Amino acid sequence: MSPGGPAIRGAREHARSAKRRALVSLAALALFACASPAVDVASADARGGRPPQDVAPRSASSASPAAESASASAAVTGARVRVLGIAQDGGIPHAACTCPRCQAARELPSRREYVASLGLVLPSRTLLVDATPDLRAQLDMLADVGARGQGAARGGVDRHPVDGVLLTHAHIGHYLGLAFFGFEAIHTSRLTVHASPAMGAFLTKHAPWAQLVALENLALAPIAAGERVALGDDVYVTALSVPHRDEYADTLAYRIEGPRARVLYLPDCDPWARWPADNDPRALFDAVDVALVDGSFYSGDELPGRDLAKIGHPLMTETMELLASRVASGRLRVRFVHLNHSNPALDPASPARRELESRGFAVARTGEELPL
Ligand SMILES: [Zn+2]
Ligand SMILES: [Zn+2]
Ligand SMILES: [Zn+2]
Repeated sequence: MSPGGPAIRGAREHARSAKRRALVSLAALALFACASPAVDVASADARGGRPPQDVAPRSASSASPAAESASASAAVTGARVRVLGIAQDGGIPHAACTCPRCQAARELPSRREYVASLGLVLPSRTLLVDATPDLRAQLDMLADVGARGQGAARGGVDRHPVDGVLLTHAHIGHYLGLAFFGFEAIHTSRLTVHASPAMGAFLTKHAPWAQLVALENLALAPIAAGERVALGDDVYVTALSVPHRDEYADTLAYRIEGPRARVLYLPDCDPWARWPADNDPRALFDAVDVALVDGSFYSGDELPGRDLAKIGHPLMTETMELLASRVASGRLRVRFVHLNHSNPALDPASPARRELESRGFAVARTGEELPL
């Protein structure tokens, strides 16, 4: 996300519009109820669209059914996941990229996307999943909930903007935002950060992260693969080990279980065929109702000259093959996140997007909410 006021203004507008949206009728909620009869997985646009509201929106005629369902908002109450961004680590516009999609995003801020992240909005606590380079704006997208939503800490820096952070891994889109919790910015006090033991060790040993630990801006709370932790309000998170290029530490996905639904957050992983025999990805999907899953690339075509075998992510086309029967039967809802700027499915009118939606899949929308 390019720096500057529009995104922040948009997020403030979001906070105001989210309150207005809280009045939306339950009839609207029913319109967007989950295809699966087992779980009430409505989605709602709690943020009111992409950052700036003062630019030309995408025309209604070009909006996909999924986009329309998200923009026609519905109030989700109780514990829920709020999508705070859907882009791959480099953001959209991607840093220094002048491809047509990134240029369009510069000219039309409604086409911009924050780096993939979730808010876990519980009745008594608010947590972040991953701390992205877009963290400032993403914290503003949580200003209507938690202590600030109750009116606390107005008129100054809120030193306790969230109650905790869950980190997936040590790639730039997933933890650089931790820096804003440090001395130069928010200066939090013992903010709980759940991370794998290896990720915790990486943060403890290496500057500038080590200073956040030494000054106790952060309080590391290791969560090992397979471990299940209570987050409060009858919501639990389980860390899941997933294969990914792990230069500095290992990679976790999270299964977040609430009274109403189980949600998998798996933004980054190796192609399914490369998963080890003792870690079958299908088992992860069989244990949830909704999956927010790595959608970095649609197909091998979008990266001319690159060897498909060396792409370090499952292609959307492969994921649709893997999960076709689960989605078709209504046992699983899939919403892609972590889209690279090259991914044609970012355009709601693209053949790629139409194809995935015709097969029952969707691209997550920033601001939408999923009940837990
Ligand atoms: Zn990533
Ligand atoms: Zn680009
Ligand atoms: Zn990664």
